Amino acid sequence: MTPPDHPREEARHAPRRRDTEDPRRNLILRALPDEEYERLRPALRPVTLQVRDQLYRRDGDIDAVYFPVDGVLSVVASVDGEPAVEVATVGYEGVSGLPVFLGAATSPHDCFCQVAGDALCLPTADLRRFLSDDGALHDLLHRYTQTMVVQLSQNVACNRLHSTEERCARWLLQTRDRVGANEFQLTQDFLGQMLGVRRGTVSLVAGLLQQAGLIRYSRGRITVVDPEHLHEAACECYDVVQAENRRVGLVPEPPDGATTGHSPGD
Ligand SMILES: [Zn+2]
Repeated sequence: MTPPDHPREEARHAPRRRDTEDPRRNLILRALPDEEYERLRPALRPVTLQVRDQLYRRDGDIDAVYFPVDGVLSVVASVDGEPAVEVATVGYEGVSGLPVFLGAATSPHDCFCQVAGDALCLPTADLRRFLSDDGALHDLLHRYTQTMVVQLSQNVACNRLHSTEERCARWLLQTRDRVGANEFQLTQDFLGQMLGVRRGTVSLVAGLLQQAGLIRYSRGRITVVDPEHLHEAACECYDVVQAENRRVGLVPEPPDGATTGHSPGD
């Protein structure tokens, strides 16, 4: 895997993709009491993450954590001589770098940006300082850790029991929630890494979903055409993880009649 670049500051990049982006679209930041968010805000640095920007490296210090506003971060495990395998993803419901919250300074995994988007960067030293205040952030990160444990364990079952097509539909639906849009950029290589399959299999599976009228896939750009039927095509793991996010109060209940966890444009 090509070593990704270090995250670059927003000022050095193109304007945000959506002018109205609210940093508190991140559900952990949104759930903080206003007063606590205002205390935290000066330490939060807005960044625009590009695909392959690396947030921390295997066995390297985790210098900062990132609260995604949109876009998707990926945690991958590497085994010598084998392609990296995705073990978890982080979106607007969470934060990267949980190991530092749990008392570790490093991780045996790599974490990088899988789908470009905005995020708020918080240096680890500042995170530790805020956590020592024993405010709402501490409790929210505990709840988020619980959802991450469920995500990790569900991924084990998913990889073992569910078809590549079901898993692909699940991943695309989840990405749509996180990006907050029906269209997003995703290369076949990345989709293959997420699903743990070869490029040829990605083409085949994406082709099947496209023929069914659920998505369009052209030059690495995915368009979710029919989210309702994509939800039906996805394995139950999508709902299991969403339900846990709602149970701990991180993801709001969907509007009446909605079948997925998020409506683009919220
Ligand atoms: Zn599954």
